[in-house]
Amino acid sequence: MIELAGMYPDELKEWLISRGEKPFRAGQVFSWLGRGRSFDEMTDLDLGLRRKLKEECVDTAVMIRTVRKSGIDGTRKFLFGLRDGNCVEGVLMRYRYGCTLCISTQVGCRMGCRFCASTLDGRVRDMTAAEMLGEVTQVNRLLESDGESIHNIVLMGSGEPLDNYDNTVRFLRLVGHEKGVNIGMRHISLSTCGLVNEMLRFSEEGLPVTLSVSLHAPNDEIRKKLMPVAKSYSIRQVLDACRVYIEKTGRRIVFEYALVDGVNSRREHAAMLADLLRGMQCHVNVIPLNDVPERDLKGVSEKQVAEFLEVLADKHISATRRREIGDDIEGACGQLRKKYLDGGVQ
Ligand code: SAH
Repeated sequence: MIELAGMYPDELKEWLISRGEKPFRAGQVFSWLGRGRSFDEMTDLDLGLRRKLKEECVDTAVMIRTVRKSGIDGTRKFLFGLRDGNCVEGVLMRYRYGCTLCISTQVGCRMGCRFCASTLDGRVRDMTAAEMLGEVTQVNRLLESDGESIHNIVLMGSGEPLDNYDNTVRFLRLVGHEKGVNIGMRHISLSTCGLVNEMLRFSEEGLPVTLSVSLHAPNDEIRKKLMPVAKSYSIRQVLDACRVYIEKTGRRIVFEYALVDGVNSRREHAAMLADLLRGMQCHVNVIPLNDVPERDLKGVSEKQVAEFLEVLADKHISATRRREIGDDIEGACGQLRKKYLDGGVQ
């Protein structure tokens, strides 16, 4: 079956022509798919065409399987079912300036970060562009009835987006298309564990999204303890790639830094981090680690977070503490899917 939602308008046009249809149908179908509609709902297509589409193609590549609402802050956690029976997670966060959806880019992940629940069972498979788009369009559909829509997207769910490069880039172009979902690149953040070659390639795509880089350590020795990817690339190489990205796109980089008790959270680590980032157009997101019960790593106290931020501020590095949301609904990466696979979610 063909996932139509993964086609650019030109490709859709060619495909429809190859099936004996008029080229203008492509615009209609593309726009319906961008609104997450099924073939049956595409009311301006004749029945013959709808039947043809249903025989050969898939309209929505994902289904919302469960929604959990946080009683604390209105965050919603989604479990998306894929057509092959796999599932991935997404999180909808409501801020004053609009809704942000966090989406997954792979089923599982092979990067092996010690603190991350998504990687515990490795990578199952890459997600297609249509599946990533489906996460957005299906949540948008749900929001429609409240008169809301997604304003920002973060690629921070399960998976390493740059390890699924082609599908991720295709997704970004599709979601940004003015005849489709139409979310601008400035409203999108892509988070990477720091795949240097792909970061350099991505800087050439003309897609000025905010690049978030999961740094989590002030030197290679500590980073290697937390993130296997640090054995392939040094922090110096990652930061050089960041400088290229800043130069090419004009966007500042956001560094993610999860404080892990007894590993990277002392004042001297903050000072080292500040020295590394001096003069760079960047912002640091400091996060107390979400404990993952399967691993022996622990988060830190509020006092430790405040001290860490204080050192960075003294050294004139822009930094804030990332708000923790959805704590009561397994908001952190991979936790809900993990629970689901373990049989803990009804
Ligand atoms: N693969 C990408 C995106 C997915 S992870 C990346 O590595 O950036 C999204 C963010 O959540 C990353 O910064 C990741 O390091 C962080 N993260 C994963 N597990 C976490 C945990 N238990 N506590 C806090 N942050 C975590």
